[in-house]
Amino acid sequence: MTKKKDIRALTKEELRAFFSENNDKAFRGNQVYEWLWQKATYSFDDMTNLSKETRNMLEEHFVINHIEVDQMQRSIDGTIKNAIKLHDNMIVESVLIPTDTRTTACVSSQVGCSLDCNFCATARLKRMRNLNPDEIYDQVVAIDKQSRLYHNHKLSNIVFMGMGEPLLNYKNVLEAIDKITSDEGLGMSSKRITLSTVGIPKMIKKLADDEVKFNLAVSLHSAIDEVRSKMMPINDKSNLTELLASLQYWYAKTKRKITFEYVVWKDINDAQKDANALVDYCKKIPSKVNLIAYNAIDDGEFQQASSKAINMYVKTLEANHVVVNVRRSRGEDIDAACGQLANKS
Ligand code: SAH
Repeated sequence: MTKKKDIRALTKEELRAFFSENNDKAFRGNQVYEWLWQKATYSFDDMTNLSKETRNMLEEHFVINHIEVDQMQRSIDGTIKNAIKLHDNMIVESVLIPTDTRTTACVSSQVGCSLDCNFCATARLKRMRNLNPDEIYDQVVAIDKQSRLYHNHKLSNIVFMGMGEPLLNYKNVLEAIDKITSDEGLGMSSKRITLSTVGIPKMIKKLADDEVKFNLAVSLHSAIDEVRSKMMPINDKSNLTELLASLQYWYAKTKRKITFEYVVWKDINDAQKDANALVDYCKKIPSKVNLIAYNAIDDGEFQQASSKAINMYVKTLEANHVVVNVRRSRGEDIDAACGQLANKS
């Protein structure tokens, strides 16, 4: 017997063609597409507007690959961390982050990561594979369900800040976002989606050329090349100058501000000169800064800077009219905070 195809790898047009070729009406393809995406149905039997024969025929040809929430942990602050089992039994993690008025889904784009940022728990896992569009989409669907169940409202925002580097899985991430924002999918607004990247200039330019409508965040962590290279080896391949050029290109095309994510570590980047360098960098590109708390990973090599150092950053940035937010950490008790996703279970 030939191996059954994953039906969610088919476009709507291909589904329509499948029905025509099998002597059925092409519009059945539209019906099935709606079940697969908008209704996120994982069983042919649930497709109740199709006849039993049609469902059997689909069953003969296709499988519906889908994720499963393998384990769910709830933090005392309401954060939920999911271990997500993929159809080949690999695991990624995704997180629901609630605030008073909204819930944000933090989703993964790859199993593991290839980037070796030395402060990130995910970097301890090697990159295993890219996630497919449906695997990214399903994480959002699962978190939307949890948001409705535990927080009484639908999911409002999505950040690509889980495991992996989204710009190294460009095609699938963009396809997932297309489905998430499409009326034939989840109908969410692109304005509420943020892609976070380590900063790959070539791919940032490509985003601008592709006229994407979502927001861009860059994990900066230092505006001094030697310091950044020490923490993020990617900076040796493309330095801050190249990164800046790509961000200016992005801004010229999209007119959307960049968000810089920035952790302040003790003895690494907590001096006045580090904050000054950040101000200089921000002056060159319309941007704002999120200072994020460092979440210690097991080996304890790095430590969060003192609150005095954080205040120094805030003062320096504000004195120079750079918008800055200090982000508190969420879900630390369940290792769900930024950089702590490492499949501990
Ligand atoms: N690869 C993408 C997205 C995943 S990381 C990126 O680099 O942006 C999401 C964010 O968490 C990044 O800003 C990353 O630098 C940050 N991060 C990683 N490890 C962290 C840690 N231990 N504490 C706090 N933030 C961390």
